[in-house]
Amino acid sequence: MALEPSEQTVTVMGWVRSFRNNQFIALNDGSTNNNLQVVVALGLLDDATVRRITTGASLKVIGELVPSLGKGQKVELKATTLEVLGDSDAEKYPLQPKKHSLEFLREIAHLRFRTNTFGSVFRLRHSLAFAVHQFFNEKGFIYLHTPIITSSDAEGAGEMFRVTTLPFDATPRNEDNSINFKEDFFGKSTNLTVSGQLEGELGAMAFSEIYTFGPTFRAENSNTARHLAEFWMIEPEMAFHDIEDNMNLAEEFIQYLIRYAMAHNMEDLEFLDARLAEEEKQKPQNERAEMGLIEKLKFVVENQFERITYTEAIQILLDSPHYKKKKFKYDVSWGIDMQSEHERYLVEKHFKKPVIVTGYPAAIKAFYMRLNDGCEPGKETVAAMDILAPGIGEIVGGSQREERLEKLEARMTAMHIPLEEMSWYLDTRRFGSVPHAGFGLGFERMVQFVTGMTNIRDVIAFARTPKNCEF
Ligand code: ATP
Ligand code: MN
Repeated sequence: MALEPSEQTVTVMGWVRSFRNNQFIALNDGSTNNNLQVVVALGLLDDATVRRITTGASLKVIGELVPSLGKGQKVELKATTLEVLGDSDAEKYPLQPKKHSLEFLREIAHLRFRTNTFGSVFRLRHSLAFAVHQFFNEKGFIYLHTPIITSSDAEGAGEMFRVTTLPFDATPRNEDNSINFKEDFFGKSTNLTVSGQLEGELGAMAFSEIYTFGPTFRAENSNTARHLAEFWMIEPEMAFHDIEDNMNLAEEFIQYLIRYAMAHNMEDLEFLDARLAEEEKQKPQNERAEMGLIEKLKFVVENQFERITYTEAIQILLDSPHYKKKKFKYDVSWGIDMQSEHERYLVEKHFKKPVIVTGYPAAIKAFYMRLNDGCEPGKETVAAMDILAPGIGEIVGGSQREERLEKLEARMTAMHIPLEEMSWYLDTRRFGSVPHAGFGLGFERMVQFVTGMTNIRDVIAFARTPKNCEF
């Protein structure tokens, strides 16, 4: 809200952040952290109305924009009429004009949008979401809405939320006592989606390039600062793309989102940068981030991501002083599914920039990832790619998909995935199969990266995590 002084009469509406000297109201409508200073001349309002101007109350003010003598603002509003739209009992209002902890604000998430920190975070989240669509639209991708309720459980078995209308106390049973899902709403077992990828591939086999952007659900019991049970994921899927093209697109995409935020939300980034710097000061010297928020974002758009193979990553870890001093909690050897401590060592200590790791062992990756040719027996790898970001860890997971029917079927059989049920998926390999690739970017992790918020619960409006589903 870049306001210029004018002779004109304007009407503003918003919420009171603070009221000083019975004269100066800091009014905010959520468009920026820069409150509008409303000046109420002494005598303009009766005492009863003045008493109703409390933190949290909503007002409608008509007045004139005049140059301001106060510091930090060019204009202020000289009120001519003021109406209290909604009162706010100052004694009971949980948000006081002072600093509250993020933990406390999480408990009053229904009100935290009214704070500077969450104002900035959610304006940025909005911008980033808009930029996602703009990026793909400019490239001619089709936005495909993949289903939220699915019956395919090929991915993430055991991590899914079941969708059912069967009664708990009288579940219909088969002769062998297993649950008879034929009686269920869809006549089969159904879940909330963990990823739109498989359906996304079907779209890519017609439109060449598609993306999804929607909610995904994982019933994984990981109570970490980067896992939610309900999160938003962006999943582009591209025909005629190999793993190299996939990496290039993912890198370009992440840099585009950051550039967009820097071009449209600098004020909010500056606020969050200062906030983070303040937070860093509380930490011991050796744990502080080397770069400020904006400095980090600039660095990421101006420098190419490091690209290494999984095998190289393991070697770096094995050669590291950290490993030799036995500082990793989990052991390192070729074949492990790298733990977050390993990923963070690579990006934060070794390379100090985002890293794309490719060529993961087939044994730890999903069935649809393309087997690399010419692997040593027992050391098969797939054309997978994970992007690891400083402070976050994995932000993107993707791969070139297995387009060769026999290889895909063999892999599925070995992993006990029923071919019959996945027939619709295999059809893409039967009728005009092409090399294709795609990836998934966790939207909240991206918002975390751009805002510098350390806990994922603070970048989604109402977080769903184990044992927590408020609001
Ligand atoms: P992690 O190892 O961090 O659990 P993953 O390997 O399970 O991630 P993928 O299945 O590859 O992740 O999902 C693609 C992307 O979705 C991830 O790179 C990450 O950005 C995001 N993501 C995955 N799980 C979650 C979650 N529980 N909450 C928020 N984002 C997630
Ligand atoms: Mn996971």
